[in-house]
Amino acid sequence: MESPRLRFAPSPSGYLHIGGARTALYCWLLARRFDGTFILRVEDTDAARSTDESIQAILDSMKWLGLDWDEGPGVGGVHGPYFQSERSGKYQAAVDRLMSEGKLYRCVCTPEELAAKREKALAEGKNPIYDGTCRDANIPADTPLPFVLRLKAPREGETVVDDLIRGRVVFPNTELGDQVVVRSNGDPLYNFVVVIDDIDMRMTHVVRGDDHLSNTPKQVQLYEALGAPPPAFAHVPLILGPDKKRLSKRHGATSVMQYDEEGYLPEAMVNYLARLGWSHGDQEIFSVSELVELFGLDHVGKSPGVWDPKKLEWVNAQHIALLDIGDLTERIAPRITAAGFAPQAVDEVLTRRIATLRGRAQTLNEFVDAGAFYWTDHEDLHYAEDEKGFKKWMKAGAAPVLEAVVSALEPLEDWTKAGIEGALVPLLEQLGIGMGKLAQPIRCSIVGKPVSPGVYETLEALGKEQSLPRLRKGLAICAAKVQA
Ligand code: GLU
Repeated sequence: MESPRLRFAPSPSGYLHIGGARTALYCWLLARRFDGTFILRVEDTDAARSTDESIQAILDSMKWLGLDWDEGPGVGGVHGPYFQSERSGKYQAAVDRLMSEGKLYRCVCTPEELAAKREKALAEGKNPIYDGTCRDANIPADTPLPFVLRLKAPREGETVVDDLIRGRVVFPNTELGDQVVVRSNGDPLYNFVVVIDDIDMRMTHVVRGDDHLSNTPKQVQLYEALGAPPPAFAHVPLILGPDKKRLSKRHGATSVMQYDEEGYLPEAMVNYLARLGWSHGDQEIFSVSELVELFGLDHVGKSPGVWDPKKLEWVNAQHIALLDIGDLTERIAPRITAAGFAPQAVDEVLTRRIATLRGRAQTLNEFVDAGAFYWTDHEDLHYAEDEKGFKKWMKAGAAPVLEAVVSALEPLEDWTKAGIEGALVPLLEQLGIGMGKLAQPIRCSIVGKPVSPGVYETLEALGKEQSLPRLRKGLAICAAKVQA
């Protein structure tokens, strides 16, 4: 591919869904790999269905995924995207030109007549395409009747789509009919404006979901009418849910930004989406720059990708493991606040705390949950006193253990993992207990339940000021049981 020009052309009638994001990604990867151009074109001609919120959601999703676009109108150095609603002059010019060349004709058949023709054709076992009543009727421009404009399409032969993924797909022209290009209210139709734009924007490749394959022969006929060579087409198989039905909300979140909210990394989403339909040997984990180096349509499969939330989670965990701890901390910090905890400064303390949680969380939000005890002041910490696990360890017998722990840690100056370990290990022998009987009451005291990363590192990361009052509280809980 030499400097290919590709576009992503979403219709802004909802959020950017997974399938659209994958299409955008594939176009972007090809453009970046081959030093080409990637355009974002918002297909907002359907004013009734297009909303500003949706446009914003699409732009936010593209930015989150890191899919930057080139070109486009704009001011102050900010360019693009293109909006079809701002391009009606181009569409009208193309209509005028095709009209003057005799390639379009006015059709005054009413919707009722068309429905009757359709039924008749179906009853006769014929294709229900338009029968061409008005094709040679030379309906004048000043007809008082409402009219649509149709393309005078070839009636014989075939229209071929040479697809880079699907191969050669042949459509007999007898099945295509004379498509409407302009409605009776003057609005140009979708297939028409797409072709005008793709020609005008000099697209070399059109990569899109294969739900558009049935539109493509109509578009190819329009390229022919306009005397422009069609771009190379690549129709990417759809994404299915685990039940092999088309991916929908029934299968869980289908909005890209929902995954941001849930704590997925954009680089993990990019990796997962790239692999969902494309492969490079059996490699699963790719950085974005690796994808830019390797991605090609030749390894996009013909069969649909199946959405697998478990795998996405796994890919996310792999990318979290690859993140530099400072970067990881910066990404988690705002989520702690967003979850309703006190804001945490991005400093050494937070970094150390996050480091203890590594390997225990598959998403950024799971870090926030797993570390809730870190972001909660000792006075507000919840103790799971009614839960079995807590009760098991926080018995009267744990009181002397916690008492010894408090006494050993109170005077400790070297509040480091090694220092804490040095102060606590002798207690094992002193009290004649195993590690579980030492560690679990400590956990229950500082976390509120018997689950945490290693106790020494957790105590270190929690800090002396937060640890001691918690240990004393744990001691009080157990001591109360001695008296009971
Ligand atoms: N606007 C179309 C859609 O959102 C895309 C058309 C195209 O890529 O040609 O499905």
